[in-house]
Amino acid sequence: MNKFREEPPIKEEVLTVVSKYQLHKPTLEKNFRNKCGYCNDNDVWRNTFYEVDHYIPKGYLTEDEIKEYWNLIYSCRYCNNSKRAKWPTKDRNIDNNGIEGFVSPYSKEYDLLFIRDAEGKIIPQSDLAKWIHKNLHLGLKRHSLIWQLEKIDATLDVLEVKYPKIKNTQTKDKITNLLFQFRQKVKDLQKDND
Ligand SMILES: [Zn+2]
Repeated sequence: MNKFREEPPIKEEVLTVVSKYQLHKPTLEKNFRNKCGYCNDNDVWRNTFYEVDHYIPKGYLTEDEIKEYWNLIYSCRYCNNSKRAKWPTKDRNIDNNGIEGFVSPYSKEYDLLFIRDAEGKIIPQSDLAKWIHKNLHLGLKRHSLIWQLEKIDATLDVLEVKYPKIKNTQTKDKITNLLFQFRQKVKDLQKDND
């Protein structure tokens, strides 16, 4: 089993007043380290589909609060579309009741909600985690594909440096095999364009 994610996003106090909340996107992108706050997918594989989510939905906020940074989450289109206005407690000060609702991606608690199996599939660890998993569709194939792509990419980064000095054919074959796997997974992800 693997950790769900390496670390939570950086919590930065941003008080800049903006005319529309989307203007906070570059700051969010940096503080979330290019990853969706909910599924932790890296945006390098599908950069255009990343959006700005309101953790507490807009219906519970004032016009000014909608544009404030503190409540915004860098989110992939898949999680943002799944989350929408869902807020089961109906109370903006309570994000969950232990069974239903959300957990802030900034919190350490968020790390404990899920683990990943050997393939990178996101596995919920509590009833609340199950609710979040179901409501954000964290079981989508793309979430494990993107996790696998990142792992292979990191391995290839290391091997790329060593490659010119490698004499062993078996090792070279392994690298070639990794590259084929990598290409196949990129194709699978492209096919997964729903
Ligand atoms: Zn996501």
